[in-house]
Amino acid sequence: MIFEHLDKYGHEQIVFCHNKDAGLKAIIAIHNTVLGPALGGTRMWPYKSEQEALNDVLRLSRGMTYKNAVAGLNIGGGKAVIIGDPASDKSEALFRAFGQFVESLGGRYITAEDVGIDVNDMEFVYRETEYVTGVHQVHGGSGDPSPFTAYGTLQGLMASLNRKFGDEEVGKYSYAVQGLGHVGIEFVKLLKERGAKIFVTDINKERVDRAVSEYGAEAVGLDDIYDVAADVYSPCALGGTVNEDTLPRLKAKVICGAANNQLATNEIGDEVEKRGILYAPDYAVNAGGVMNVSLEIDGYNRERAMRMMRTIYHNLARIYEISERDRIPTYKAADRLAEERIEIIGKLKLPLGRAAPRFQGRVRGH
Ligand code: NAD
Repeated sequence: MIFEHLDKYGHEQIVFCHNKDAGLKAIIAIHNTVLGPALGGTRMWPYKSEQEALNDVLRLSRGMTYKNAVAGLNIGGGKAVIIGDPASDKSEALFRAFGQFVESLGGRYITAEDVGIDVNDMEFVYRETEYVTGVHQVHGGSGDPSPFTAYGTLQGLMASLNRKFGDEEVGKYSYAVQGLGHVGIEFVKLLKERGAKIFVTDINKERVDRAVSEYGAEAVGLDDIYDVAADVYSPCALGGTVNEDTLPRLKAKVICGAANNQLATNEIGDEVEKRGILYAPDYAVNAGGVMNVSLEIDGYNRERAMRMMRTIYHNLARIYEISERDRIPTYKAADRLAEERIEIIGKLKLPLGRAAPRFQGRVRGH
């Protein structure tokens, strides 16, 4: 059954990691290393069953291949899951044991933080392997990716405005921003600097108050964000918020935000297209985080990171071209861009990648 699945979705390798003494049960999935070593975060979650954990890691690792490919990175797709409760099951031994498994892959998989994991956990992983990004800045890590993600989202927004309205004057349009966390509040700041009218909502009242007092945003109720007369709906909180209940209510002509998995289903993506709303594919827009950590492999440089964020504009423009060329919805065009890039670049003979000292000579599959 597993090989059937691997055949269907094209995964290269699945590694089951077990260490009884450390209480470690983890799965590393390497989906595709055609473009480079597989990069993707480690998630810690109290999965109800091993099957649920396996499904999650297979789905997420494949998603990383597409995300990294569309982002234009020389990086493949992978992901890891640790089965356990982040609130009670964390220990030094667990993360070090996990780090040893990452090390055993010799650079085919490079890990990072994901849901349930923080920079302190990564410190333990880093004791056992250098194939880890998102470590503390003192070790050459890139720090909090959120400001980069917000800036990248702005680039994606500009490409989308241009596509929909024929100009990219951010301040000319109005925005409904849902979620004012790490990325959302930075995004609001960038919109405000460009003179935009902004509506905001969040379950956290303090964050709403801050957006109102510091950035002149107008607060609306949690559910009212879908009814606001704004040109752009910007989901920056949860996934699945574009669904059959919310879509008929949206007044926006553009959907562009940082949240992952914004479309509840592919059918909703088709419906968005039919209604003439331009959907900026989430994983292309919010690639700033992964772009930022990917630079750690070559030696992190903040300026290079900012420059790289601007490529998101071109990635989105390319997606819109493919959507028009092939007459397919934008969410499908993003996947097609990834597949085309993997195919074309995969045919080139690539030299071994330049690696930062801490990866020197050890990054393979590039
Ligand atoms: P965060 O946890 O800091 O912020 C999320 C915010 O959403 C919080 O303020 C929370 O109160 C709010 N929220 C939760 N449920 C809500 C609801 N029903 N209505 C309104 N607000 C609600 O997370 P973040 O790092 O800012 O990430 C935001 C989104 O962007 C997530 O989907 C994340 O996966 C995605 N993303 C983030 C990054 C990054 O660099 N941080 C990179 C790529 C993608």
